[in-house]
Formats: sequence, C-alpha cells, structure tokens
Amino acid sequence: MSVEKLAMANSILEGFVDRESKLLAPYATKSYESLGRKHAEPDSPFRSPFQRDRDRILHSSAYRRLSGKMQVFTGEMGDYHRTRLTHTQEVASIARTIGRATRLNEDLIEALALCHDIGHPPYGHAGEDALSECMVDIGGFSHNQFGLTIVEEIEIRYPDFPGLNLSLEVLEGQARRVDKSGTGPRPALEVQLVDAADSMTYDAHDTDDALKLRLVDLDELENLGLIRNCLKYVDSQHAGLDSGMRRKALVHRLLDLQVVDLLDTLGKSLDQRQFQSVDDVRASEFLIEPSSELGEMKRELESFLYQNVYRHEKLIAMRSEAQSRIQELYAKYVADPSLFPEKYLPRAHSIGISRMAGEYIAGMTDRFFEQTFERITGNQIRG
Ligand code: MG
Repeated sequence: MSVEKLAMANSILEGFVDRESKLLAPYATKSYESLGRKHAEPDSPFRSPFQRDRDRILHSSAYRRLSGKMQVFTGEMGDYHRTRLTHTQEVASIARTIGRATRLNEDLIEALALCHDIGHPPYGHAGEDALSECMVDIGGFSHNQFGLTIVEEIEIRYPDFPGLNLSLEVLEGQARRVDKSGTGPRPALEVQLVDAADSMTYDAHDTDDALKLRLVDLDELENLGLIRNCLKYVDSQHAGLDSGMRRKALVHRLLDLQVVDLLDTLGKSLDQRQFQSVDDVRASEFLIEPSSELGEMKRELESFLYQNVYRHEKLIAMRSEAQSRIQELYAKYVADPSLFPEKYLPRAHSIGISRMAGEYIAGMTDRFFEQTFERITGNQIRG
C-alpha cells in the first residue's frame, strides 16, 4: 500500500488531531492550532507539524556537529563526560518525561529541546565569551540568537526556502531563550519546561562529570544541602556502596529528586490556576520553577559548581587558551575574507565580514576549529 493510501486509510492526519485533543491538557500547545510556517507547506501525511520540526532539527548539520562540541569538559579530558549532544538528549528526555506526566505536547517539547543549544560555538561558554568580545562593536554574540539564525537562515536543506522552515511556535520558543528578561507575555509551558529541564540536567550531569574527573570529591560536595540530602537517601537505601556506585546512585537521585519536585510543584500550580488554554498561560504571571526549598539548594550547588568546577584551574587554563585562539582566528578572517570557503562569500557580503567571521567560527566543532586554527595561523596547538 502506498504511503498516501496508508495515510488515507487510517485517517492518520485526523488521528493525531484526535489524539492531541484527547490526550493533551487544555493548557498544552496543540499542533493543529499551530500558526504554521513562514513558507506555507502541505502537512506531512503521517507526522504532526512539531514531529516534523523535530526531524528537521535532527537531520540538520548543526545538530550533528553538537557531538563534536564540548559541554563543560574538553575531549582530551576523557570520554566519560557529556558532550553538547548528549546534554541535549538528556534535556529532551527529562523534559518529555515531565511533559507527558503533565499532558503537555511532547513533540513540541522534543523539537524545542533538540534546538535549544544548536547555536553553541566550540569551547562552550568560553568560546561564546571570546566571540562576544571579538564582536562587541557589532552587537556581540549570543549562542541562543545564533541558534535562531541557524534554523532560519544558515541551514540550507530545501530548494524552496532558506533555513528549516520550522513552525512559528518552535521559533518563538527559541527566540524566548534570547530574551530572558521576563517582559511580555509568558512563553508556552512547553518552552518553560525545556528551560527548567536544561537546568535540572546540567546540575546533575556536571556534578557527575566533575566527580568522575576528580575535579571535586564527595567530601567537599557533602557540604551542600542538595548533595547531603541525596546522599542521605542513597545511604539509607544501600549501605556500603563503593565510590563509583555511590556516585551513580547520587546522580540518579539528583535527577529523580528534581523531577519529582517539579512534578509536584507544577501539578499543584496547574490545579490551582486551572488554565483553559495556552492564551491563559501567556496572560498569567506563571513560571515553571522548582519549589522554593529545592530552588535554594540548586542555587547553592550551582554557585559551588561555578567556583570549583567551571572555574577549576584545569578549565581556566583551557578557557584562556581557547579564547586567545578564537580571537586570533577571528582576526585572520576579518583581515582577509578570501580565507572563507567560497560558498560563504555571498553571506559575508550580506551580513558583513565581522559577523561572518563570528558565525563561521561558531559553527565549528572543537576539533575542526583546532585544525582550521593550525592551518590558517600556522601555529601548532599540541607538540
Ligand atoms: Mg543546554
């Protein structure tokens, strides 16, 4: 049977409309109420619009490159810790779990989660800070803004339009990451949830990676309320675990505690507020947040991670080397635009050489950056 016949026979398109209206809560974003795409396209016969968005992001080259971009720790430091890609997958997984339990739109959640870090430059936040400094005269650099530019302009995968032509709800969700000032209408709950899941995920996995890499030890971490709380639970369930198993159990508990707390807090708020539509959410002051106790413990953990992990001497050394390399390569491209691959010249012409240099570097994986740096500057990075 052809795909068209299959779709017709099973009324699949009506099936997802029917499924969403039955399964999703009144406050969830329905794909059949989507504002559509900038360039009109017929619907897929067997995928909802947000499923299609998710697939478009998944098949983009910027998404694949996330596997070669560091999250917090570089590739040379080992192969246990998260990359930008595995972080993204963890965010999608946690956000979908909470989204399903609260009857939000999982397809939209997944599309937003896969997109959320797609604009990250090489070397994580160190790379972002360096680019932003290079580009200070032209408005700086933001990975969230660049993520939007990638999906709207840079990915060329379709003959009829630039970018991925994502649903306006996905674009709006990414745009809300650019402006987190909190002014204007509230974002849809799916957008808020991905933001919350991002924080839950990195608090847990950065703790795990930092312990595994021995940048911190459990004794230091035990001074923090959240870690103490989780270890108390772990030890009450399993006495005498070896340190590796205890670390794994701790991280498991860290995630579980955050998910359960959010479900509890969010569930109570949703009961209380009785949102009847996405418009009700937008018009409210509501924000998805952990309980105030957990929020405080998370802040304590985050400030510890900032001081002792993100600013650990090993990372500080990497950070300053990466930043000076980015500045050096950026200056080379700005001084001599003929160094850009030829296919980038039309875009360089339209957005300007300086922004093109920033975008080109931001699109690179860590390894491709290093190879390009060595080739263009003639400086060897290692021995
Ligand atoms: Mg993230």
